[in-house]
Amino acid sequence: MTCETLRFVLGDQLSPNVSSLADLDAASDVVLMVEVADETTYVRHHKKKIAFILSAMRHFAARLGEDGVTVDYVRLEDQGNTGSFREELARAVRRHRPRRVLVTEPGEYRVRADMDSWRDLVGVTVEIREDDRFLCSRAEFARWAGDRRQLRMEHFYRVMRRRYGVLLDSSGEPEGGKWNLDADNRKALPALVRPPAQPQFDSDCETREVLDLVDRRFGGHFGDLLPFDFAVTEEGAELAFDHFLQCALPQFGDYQDAMRQGEPVLFHSLIALYLNVGLLDPLAVIRRVEAAYRAGDVPLNAAEGYIRQVLGWREYVRGVYWLKMPDYAETNALNAQRPLPDFYWTGETRLNCLADVIGQTKHLAYAHHIQRLMVTGNFALLLGVAPKEVCEWYLAVYADAFEWVELPNTHGMALHADGGVMASKPYASSGAYIDRMSDYCSNCTYDVRKKAGPKACPFNYLYWNFLIENRARLEGNPRLAMPYRTLARMPEARLAEIRRDARAFMDQVTGAAAPVDAA
Ligand SMILES: Cc1cc2nc3c(=O)[nH]c(=O)nc-3n(C[C@H](O)[C@H](O)[C@H](O)COP(=O)(O)OP(=O)(O)OC[C@H]3O[C@@H](n4cnc5c(N)ncnc54)[C@H](O)[C@@H]3O)c2cc1C
Ligand code: SF4
Repeated sequence: MTCETLRFVLGDQLSPNVSSLADLDAASDVVLMVEVADETTYVRHHKKKIAFILSAMRHFAARLGEDGVTVDYVRLEDQGNTGSFREELARAVRRHRPRRVLVTEPGEYRVRADMDSWRDLVGVTVEIREDDRFLCSRAEFARWAGDRRQLRMEHFYRVMRRRYGVLLDSSGEPEGGKWNLDADNRKALPALVRPPAQPQFDSDCETREVLDLVDRRFGGHFGDLLPFDFAVTEEGAELAFDHFLQCALPQFGDYQDAMRQGEPVLFHSLIALYLNVGLLDPLAVIRRVEAAYRAGDVPLNAAEGYIRQVLGWREYVRGVYWLKMPDYAETNALNAQRPLPDFYWTGETRLNCLADVIGQTKHLAYAHHIQRLMVTGNFALLLGVAPKEVCEWYLAVYADAFEWVELPNTHGMALHADGGVMASKPYASSGAYIDRMSDYCSNCTYDVRKKAGPKACPFNYLYWNFLIENRARLEGNPRLAMPYRTLARMPEARLAEIRRDARAFMDQVTGAAAPVDAA
């Protein structure tokens, strides 16, 4: 069998408008989709994440088939499946003998580097197209970054708002007079405010087959496979987003940074997984949020706060990733070397905030931004865990984790391992922040008001210890001037106490010494 063009669609390119499907000729072209072992195991992904991607791929292929497109779909357990993109492409080229291969650039540097060798491997032209589902191309971002000494999301975001004409008034200025309403978006969650229930999506036959496969093949991976209630089609993802618009967006802004025990999603949208595989289109999402604001259905702080995440942060982290890779992943500006505590994989810890966030991560393959940044991320930062170990964890455990978005957020924003490319100061904080923004501390074995001793909240002394350990690297940062002034006023006995508590705790959680009992 021969075809004109073999169009290779990867598992996070499930959009009908992806560039590799533009100008598709259903009469002469074949779409290739492959489930490969390399991608399911290069980190030990959460079972739900694998199930989500495989099921969404199968549904996307079926939809193309219904539209009259010939799809050559290789399943994970098909006989002869070699387990890698390159070998599966080579086999497909032998099957179809196309004149050329067309593919959209991938989301990972690792795969992009491999693609450069595909032309020689398969012996026909391999055209790699830009991924124009993003709103800022790699070249545009590089132009914007130019030779700026510092990249700052806030500046980039304003450029993007103007470029797409989002939330501007009639004179082209920001709606409401301010570009960023973050100051309004840091409220703690009052006990009486109840977040909406999440939509559940039933599994059809295809998804059930995938669930069986994942259970059989990846039973040893992190996380609970069931219940599985993600959407796996474009229509399902739209329904999930509709639900968010109606039930949660109005309060998204106010409670964006809040956390509550046993309430994993609160007023967040839980759509990153759909955006990242292509089931939702970011610009359509932004337009609908703006329309909800213009219709008077949601306040400006909610609409602006949400749009800033999608038009600002999402595009910005992708820009940083492609601008700085591959060196970016190798940086370790704070020289953090400690191992990741085992409880990141088990959830078994007496630190209640960590137990809750890791527990929900196991259960749902989801945590919202502040949980990722200020609980698991902050703790790994304060402990000085090696960035590669932390990044591997984040890449494995969240259903929305793809390296282009996971790495800058973890390596840069949470760990400051990039030395300040993503954020001008480390997001380090003591237990006071978690106490202010959640109810975790009231159910914890540790006491958030205590600064020293076995009952003290470990975030408290780890915070000061972090500043002590990194004094030479961070003391000159103007945004840390205040805590360093406080540190300078501490008596030597207090500094020794901090070091002693931190050392004992670190030895305990990294397995180097007998446990310090908080009870
Ligand atoms: C350490 C760490 C690791 C992260 N890893 C990932 C990851 O692997 N994949 C991922 O998509 N996001 C990641 N994020 C960003 C953010 O936490 C998630 O996008 C968000 O929690 C997803 O949940 P949601 O869809 O309910 O988002 P919402 O809070 O409802 O926000 C709406 C959308 O904005 C986008 N967004 C918000 N913040 C960011 C951000 N910082 N970077 C990029 N996009 C953003 C997402 O697409 C998200 O769906 C990470 C953040 C941190 C601190
Ligand atoms: S007391 Fe400390 S460890 Fe316990 S929940 Fe609060 S911040 Fe977390």
